[in-house]
Amino acid sequence: MRTNYHTHTKRCKHAGGTEEDYVLSAIRSQLDILGFSDHAPFPDRDYGLRMPYDELRPYLDAITELSETYDGKIKLLKGLEIEYLPQYHQYYENLLTKEGMDYLLLGEHFFAYGNDIFNIYSSDSTEKYLDYARAVAAAMGTGYFKAVAHPDLFLLNTFAWDKNCDKACDIIVNEAVKTNTILEYNANGYRRGVHDFPDGSRYQYPHPEFWKRVAEAKIPVIIGSDCHNPLQVWDDFVENAYKKLEEYGITPMTVL
Ligand SMILES: [Zn+2]
Ligand SMILES: [Zn+2]
Repeated sequence: MRTNYHTHTKRCKHAGGTEEDYVLSAIRSQLDILGFSDHAPFPDRDYGLRMPYDELRPYLDAITELSETYDGKIKLLKGLEIEYLPQYHQYYENLLTKEGMDYLLLGEHFFAYGNDIFNIYSSDSTEKYLDYARAVAAAMGTGYFKAVAHPDLFLLNTFAWDKNCDKACDIIVNEAVKTNTILEYNANGYRRGVHDFPDGSRYQYPHPEFWKRVAEAKIPVIIGSDCHNPLQVWDDFVENAYKKLEEYGITPMTVL
């Protein structure tokens, strides 16, 4: 069974293609299920790189309409990729109940820090990885998030591997075990290519040190395309992700 639950659309303003473009690509690649997970808006603040709040309704309506149009050809699901900030519990709750979302993916690009947020892309030291990992762990504890998208995203910063990296991986992996949360092996990390780090060249993520731990802990894993272009729904990077997981001895689930 072929599925993908991590799909963006042009509504987030850094991806191309309408919902229908992704559906057509998924059908061409013979997917059985396509889940949309565009970057979620927040009701009271624009954190950037996401759909405007007033597009949430049109986004959901478009998926409902396409479900009818392509009924029998593919199953479509309504999801969002969203960060965890403790002040939004009611919002997550509403999305899952009133708005009828099928699932939320935790995509922690920033986290609550002091009275504001901290963007993980601007880490000044690996100390921040510990704060990041604790925020992801707190999110898993809420039960709002079906899976954690790119749980090793924090490792994209250009620091050499150190004990904080180990610790941050352990915090996230241990909490996933405790809460039985699904972790996503993200194909988009491969699309971003190999980068230079002080201790050698590697992909920013997925990181072998993280996934070795996941394999050992036998945590449920799903592969996410994290496509930002309709041609990426099922591409060589997705195929490569499946091959890589096999090397870790991980059999990914295909139904979220
Ligand atoms: Zn994105
Ligand atoms: Zn994404």
